[in-house]
Amino acid sequence: MGVHSTTYTASMKPSFFDLTYDELKALLTEKGFSPFGATQIFDWVYKKYVYDPKEWSNVSNKAKDFFAENYDFTLLKVVWHGLSKDGTRKFLVKMTDGQTVETVAIPARDRLTLCVSSQVGCAVGCTFCHTATQGLKRHLKASEVVLQYITIQNWLIQNVSPEEKLTNIVYMGQGEPLHNFENMKKATLIFMSEKGMGLGQRRITLSTSGLVPAIEKLAIDFPPVNIALSLHSARNDVRTELMPINKVYDLERLFKAIKMIPLKAHRRITYEYLLIDGMNDGLEDVEALANLLNSKESKINLIPFNEFPGSKYKRPSEQKIMWFLDQMIKRGFTCTIRTTKGSDILAACGQLKSEFDKLNLWSKDSEPKVIPSIASSVLQNQVRP
Ligand code: SAH
Ligand code: SF4
Repeated sequence: MGVHSTTYTASMKPSFFDLTYDELKALLTEKGFSPFGATQIFDWVYKKYVYDPKEWSNVSNKAKDFFAENYDFTLLKVVWHGLSKDGTRKFLVKMTDGQTVETVAIPARDRLTLCVSSQVGCAVGCTFCHTATQGLKRHLKASEVVLQYITIQNWLIQNVSPEEKLTNIVYMGQGEPLHNFENMKKATLIFMSEKGMGLGQRRITLSTSGLVPAIEKLAIDFPPVNIALSLHSARNDVRTELMPINKVYDLERLFKAIKMIPLKAHRRITYEYLLIDGMNDGLEDVEALANLLNSKESKINLIPFNEFPGSKYKRPSEQKIMWFLDQMIKRGFTCTIRTTKGSDILAACGQLKSEFDKLNLWSKDSEPKVIPSIASSVLQNQVRP
């Protein structure tokens, strides 16, 4: 699964959004400025949404010039946006090399959660996942992850209302976050910095397919965010069929690694369990799941399979879904069903994929050729009734 990050053209300045607070302090010191300026700069950028250094009124002129000349503050480009009937908004954002990823804002009660992507495509190859069909194109840089949040927050303020604030983040968009460990760790540090966005650990959830060496590393070397594990089956043969990664890291190895995650900091781990008709939704599956997990230390989130064009599986009936839920609750588990959001715009879990890239509706260097009405009809044509 080795992959090299794409190198950007030499003329590109480094993105400011790749700097953690500590790195910014170190940079200021190295350049002969006061490291205390880092607090003001993070405040301007992450709390006041001011991305032009010339406007940072309480920062020295020399420091302002330094950042204006040497750092890039460009946000991502929103090239398409779709609004679902349930309020979910899906965005297609374009990065400097022309690649696009999707990011989805999901409203629920008092929250507005942004589901961010960690890679362009994904190498893990789960057989039920739309993203998997494009393979891995590249990792996202930390700045590109941070910028999904910043770009969408700005878009919401400008296009919806100044009060429209993102409150939570889930790493559940395209890609396997732990395959892009260092960049996701850095992005998480930036999200959590109290001098900047200050998102608390309970507001960030990382979802992983179970990359064992990376989970072992996460247990000792990652900010303490919520962890969700994509389990999908408690039976090795079934899980391997769904997730080829299980061939290498089977349930036994996976759970050894999971036990290393300090639960005090992470609270309970959430196990995501996709429900696929006739595949992992029978009594045998219920029993295997109840035997594998400890009901006191786990939460189960059932995700009815979302079909997408070309998918080979089916979603179980509502009755079957409720039966599975009931079986787990009867066995003493905290178990919930993830309501499908945004399925009319292909924004639901596992449906994310840069369709427009594939359809080649715009070229690298030009403005997007696609207009929203065309975009939504393309999407609608792809949605099954
Ligand atoms: N790569 C990470 C995070 C992104 S996927 C992971 O796999 O955990 C986020 C969640 O969506 C995962 O639980 C994934 O299994 C689920 N998912 C993928 N395809 C799906 C589909 N077609 N229907 C419903 N959920 C899906
Ligand atoms: Fe990758 Fe997650 Fe999709 Fe599996 S479910 S292919 S790990 S994005």
